[in-house]
Amino acid sequence: MTTTIIGYPRIGTHRELKFAVQKYFKHEITADELGQTAAELRHQNWQTISDAGIDQLVSNDFSYYDTTLDAATLFNIVPKRYKALHLSPLDEYFAQARGYQGEKGDTTALSMKKWFNTNYHYLVPEFEDDTDVKLVGTKIFDEYQEAKDQGYQTRPVLLGPYTLLQLGAYEDNKKAPDFTQAVVSAYEEVFSKLAGLGAEWIQLDEPSLVKDQSEADLELFTDLYKPLLSNKHGLKVLAQTYFGDVRDSYDLLTSLDFDGLGLDFHEGDESLDLIQKQGFPDDEVLYAGVINGKNVWKANYDEKLNLIHKLPKTNIVLSTSCSLLHVPYTLENEPQLDEKYKKYLAFAKEKLTELTDLDHILGGSGEDALKANEALFAKPRYQENQAIIDKVASLKESDFHREPSFKERAEIQKKEFDLPELPTTTIGSFPQTREVRRNRAKYKRGEITKKQYDQFNRDMIKQCVEFQEKIGLDVLVHGEYERNDMVEYFGEKLDGFLFTSNAWVQSYGTRCVKPPIIWGDVSRNQPITVAESVYAQSLTDKPMKGMLTGPVTILNWSFPREDISKKETTLQIALAIQAEALDLEKHGIKIIQIDEAALREKLPLRKSDWYSRYLDWAIPAFRLVGSKVKPTTQIHTHMCYSEFGDIIDAIDDMDADVISFEASRADLTLLDTLQEDHFKTHVGPGVYDIHSPRIPSESEVAGTIHKILKKVPLNNVWINPDCGLKTRGTKETTASLENVVAATKQVRKEL
Ligand code: GLN
Ligand code: ZN
Repeated sequence: MTTTIIGYPRIGTHRELKFAVQKYFKHEITADELGQTAAELRHQNWQTISDAGIDQLVSNDFSYYDTTLDAATLFNIVPKRYKALHLSPLDEYFAQARGYQGEKGDTTALSMKKWFNTNYHYLVPEFEDDTDVKLVGTKIFDEYQEAKDQGYQTRPVLLGPYTLLQLGAYEDNKKAPDFTQAVVSAYEEVFSKLAGLGAEWIQLDEPSLVKDQSEADLELFTDLYKPLLSNKHGLKVLAQTYFGDVRDSYDLLTSLDFDGLGLDFHEGDESLDLIQKQGFPDDEVLYAGVINGKNVWKANYDEKLNLIHKLPKTNIVLSTSCSLLHVPYTLENEPQLDEKYKKYLAFAKEKLTELTDLDHILGGSGEDALKANEALFAKPRYQENQAIIDKVASLKESDFHREPSFKERAEIQKKEFDLPELPTTTIGSFPQTREVRRNRAKYKRGEITKKQYDQFNRDMIKQCVEFQEKIGLDVLVHGEYERNDMVEYFGEKLDGFLFTSNAWVQSYGTRCVKPPIIWGDVSRNQPITVAESVYAQSLTDKPMKGMLTGPVTILNWSFPREDISKKETTLQIALAIQAEALDLEKHGIKIIQIDEAALREKLPLRKSDWYSRYLDWAIPAFRLVGSKVKPTTQIHTHMCYSEFGDIIDAIDDMDADVISFEASRADLTLLDTLQEDHFKTHVGPGVYDIHSPRIPSESEVAGTIHKILKKVPLNNVWINPDCGLKTRGTKETTASLENVVAATKQVRKEL
């Protein structure tokens, strides 16, 4: 059998790409120097994957920022506002990713969305009526050639034309089908050039196919691929899907002239069924995604072999269920992690070995690997806590509801807080400057004492509170200096989690997160945030928001167990966070924000599964956290995405008193769903984009507030940035927040 992967992490085993890109932004290195780092990382990847014994390598899975943006740029799908800046190609690319503010002009970034059901984000390709889709870039050819020059024959990977059009935003009159012809020609040119360079295969990623497909969708797919596949220029074409099964398009896919079809056997509940019931074309290669590309647990070889034996006997390539981008590089970077844990884990590099192990076992030479794996799975692995299991089992319906009703609470809290109209606040974190990170690093290395570490953070909290008071924000935060990451921080203080040192996973751009691993039943044995919040509150008469991460987000941004359901683990976490909320309340914190940044992220990709498989337990799990606080305690929540118009009822059903979310990067279209009577929760729809270093002017923010007020009743509106400020610099944050407060004051006067 043959082995391959869909894609590999690209940030560097020690995040070299992130650091190089940041240096480039600060003009500390040149484009050439950045290019050299990138080339080294690509080289290392090819070498690692090839050394591991994987037969088919890929290229063009590398990106400086995002592969969807790469595809759009390759095909000249670049909005006019960026072209007008007349930047170098690399800087134009980064201007789309991050916005641009400088001597050549001032423009916001492209909108950014979560990549299907992952915590990776892509930049939304923006089509204007005069967008001239054509092949203009060379990245895919350059990287193919680069690999070839190093002796590696690769299969270049490119976002497929269908998913490219499906993910696009259409700014003017033209819609996706209007670009079909141009897109087909552009991809055909890619085929022809790649074939000319000596490529044998191309992988076109079409994850959009795992969502619900309408007739019109399938028609678009056909209109793109019929002509394209009739002109392959000798290249073999792999249609690669992942994150689910292709039940709506299987017939179509197998009837078109693809040379290979990549299916996900992990999240694709019906993948096996489709093949068994409908057959698989003899002349096509099945790229079987058997190794889970999303979790960090070792695969159970017996289960995998069982699955493989049910697949068609010929023409199989063993692969991963999705790109390995979504898992960390390697366990080799975790020397401090005990072997008793490590032996159960497999990161990207170790998953390569799993693929070759399976291959060897199937070929008759992997006896030892199989035996070792069977021994591992014969014993229970997770750490159990009977008290917690019982507590979850005894939860009653009433535990998931808060009394009194939202309306009554709103009245009570209005009196309690007496805030001005359009109250201003922030989402929680303030810039994590070099000093803040250095303080933490020193503490972790044992160079300073816990006392010194805490004292530094206290000084930061003090400065932060003074700053917020000075500029006149109404509801303050302590700044979250003690937190590396909103999930890892809680994971470290709760029982049941494991931590890593270098297990970074790319989130947006070159930013990474380090998800904890849930190792057992989760419980809270000590207060987590109380000391910092109480200290911060002691410094001001204004309300200080306590800041918690919600149970669904902690689950979604961790690597979950595989032996119990996600619902079960989430309820365990919810009980732990509930105890923390009650502790905050007991210590005088009157506003508590429970962030559910990642709630939408794990929404099933098929609409019919949304409630039954997810929201029906996820929303109650959130409510459980706040269900026992007093009516005077105000519960806030925050969400990090702009797309929730379609689950607005579920969001309202969280029964928070206030929700802040990210709308600024989506042109506030979401506001339409918040009109008048069908959304009770008070809202702060983010008045500027914190994912970009750009400073919004006072009048710009005032304009945004007016836009919000056209749709949302005045009494329901809060004013805030669209997310936490920790990734930003102090200078731009200061200026931006000053403008926000000034704009709010100006609008209040005009009311
Ligand atoms: N309170 C968190 C912060 O401000 C929320 C972060 C997030 O939404 N991603 O950083
Ligand atoms: Zn956010």
